[in-house]
Amino acid sequence: MDLPNQINDLSRLCIHTQTNRPWNLKRCVAEYHRAGIRGISVWRHLLEEIHPREARALLKDHDMTVVSLVRGGFFAAADRGRRKEAIRENLAALEEAEQIGAPLLVLVCGADPEQTPEQSREQIHEGIHQLVPAAEAVGVRLAIEPLHPMYAANRSAIVTLKQANDMVETIGSETVGVAVDLFHLWWDPALHDEIRRCGTMERLFAFHICDWKPDMKDMLNDRGLMGEGCINVAQIRGWVESAGFSGFHEVEIFSERYWRQDQVAYLHAIVNAYMNQT
Ligand code: ZN
Repeated sequence: MDLPNQINDLSRLCIHTQTNRPWNLKRCVAEYHRAGIRGISVWRHLLEEIHPREARALLKDHDMTVVSLVRGGFFAAADRGRRKEAIRENLAALEEAEQIGAPLLVLVCGADPEQTPEQSREQIHEGIHQLVPAAEAVGVRLAIEPLHPMYAANRSAIVTLKQANDMVETIGSETVGVAVDLFHLWWDPALHDEIRRCGTMERLFAFHICDWKPDMKDMLNDRGLMGEGCINVAQIRGWVESAGFSGFHEVEIFSERYWRQDQVAYLHAIVNAYMNQT
């Protein structure tokens, strides 16, 4: 088994702002900085109350690295007008990514229950293909994030790392790669092989971590902190690192349970879980 070295510092820890949903961007930046965290993935809605350029200055002042902007995508729609609107929205997201200094835009690719998953995937392919020139022009990479199959009806028709790798291969641009999120992919018997394949293609752009609670109460907002569920986070981290990934470990936890709690104490629990269960 490829078990990686124990994590002994926070230099590669990144937090998705949505993990601390009650906080705005200023608060996230201040608290992450105070906790010794240097990586942040910014959710787009937080930029409604602070201009991306102002956000960039704030992040720089706190010595924070923006790992990614989250999220673009939602390319699939039976209605042509909605597909065009999605392209406009993604172009706006790319512009924000450039302004805030994010090197990567994460794509939740979309699905429409009014059509087959194959049709949705064709539209996703077409949508990403259309975005590539704009992404290259601003120097922002695109990461296809496969979602768990329970979201196949309306969030993503890309539900395995193989499907994401296949699409990356077909598109054939150095700008397009994948985000491996443990919550979505931990169960897949082909995961280890597909992580290797992605590494060989040099398209493993991001690594998102949390845990899967077998008794989850809600399929969206009841993710676990590392160590609370059944994912062997350290094992899969070993696979990702053996495949050549040396980027941040991004904690991305959506949890009504944790959002109701004191966020500073929760952040300490995250750091502790990161050091001991990852
Ligand atoms: Zn993710």
